Amino acid sequence: MYPTNIDVKVHRLLLMKDVRHGLISIKEANIALSTKEENNMNTDEKYEAVIKAMDEYTYQWHPENALDPSKPILKITKSSLGSFKWCANKYRFSYIERLPQDQTEAMRKGTIVHNAREDFFNDFDISKAENMSNGEILEYCNSLFPVDDYMDMYMTIASFEAQRFIDAKDEDKLDEFIPIINEECFDCEIVIPHDIHPDFSLARDYKVHLQGIIDRVFNEGNNLIPMELKTGLWKEASYKYTGMRKEMAFYEILINNSTQEVREKFGLTEDMKVTHWGWYYPASNFIHVEPLKKVTIKSVMKNIAELIKAYEDNLFLPKYWAKTCAHCSYFGICEAATEDTWG
Ligand code: SF4
Repeated sequence: MYPTNIDVKVHRLLLMKDVRHGLISIKEANIALSTKEENNMNTDEKYEAVIKAMDEYTYQWHPENALDPSKPILKITKSSLGSFKWCANKYRFSYIERLPQDQTEAMRKGTIVHNAREDFFNDFDISKAENMSNGEILEYCNSLFPVDDYMDMYMTIASFEAQRFIDAKDEDKLDEFIPIINEECFDCEIVIPHDIHPDFSLARDYKVHLQGIIDRVFNEGNNLIPMELKTGLWKEASYKYTGMRKEMAFYEILINNSTQEVREKFGLTEDMKVTHWGWYYPASNFIHVEPLKKVTIKSVMKNIAELIKAYEDNLFLPKYWAKTCAHCSYFGICEAATEDTWG
């Protein structure tokens, strides 16, 4: 009997399991998967199957289980890695012990504005806008944002997008106006070599699971350009560039290491590569785009090794700094903060 799509899904899951248990090689699994049966699956089904076939993952990770394929691997997101680099002790409270953090106004604003910008691109109708005058385009962009507490920021974004649309129309590049990725969740598994960081040598190579919702990715030809929206204020300082480059490098690693099924799900072809990245701070009317920096990608891989080392040693040291720690949700239970306050 010709297999149904469900049969093919199960087939893929079993093959991936065999790979994990070392029974067959990835190459053999791929050959088995590129069969007539698999071609019967649609893009969403292939994506679902490949995600289901990935190892389980968790922040409550135990490195000593790394050789047991039935145990979860370490989950890493852009936020979790950023939190670890900010203060390993804060990471432990937040991600391993799952203690809740206070919701700040900045977090609330970030969520609402991100949702509004996502909706803007989902609702933008190119065929409707292309016959409008410049003034009408601006009005149209404004009309696609909600009425709430962040209208000043929406007006800045609307002006920016209206100008971008006008420029794209003049250059006959309207097909590049809407991002190819708009707030999509990417997953991938990568291996961190034990010797990638000379100061944090690991007991072995580790497979980890990276996950992240990518704000937006624009494409120009085969060039992919991830763009991050930030609702705070930009500061012209080298640490801000370094921080943003690391966030964007995390996205590059996610996209670059995604399986063919994940890429297909989001409309990315094999020859599309991240060549640039950028960030947009509407509150400061600041936008920056630059070619990707391989050195930053390497640095993020090293940061992941540092995180793994903390798990290996079960050592998540506090990085106490009175000025910023005063705003930490865990100030009251942090030993370093308590010592400083009473010391
Ligand atoms: S108070 Fe400071 S040192 Fe303590 S967990 Fe928070 S950020 Fe880290």
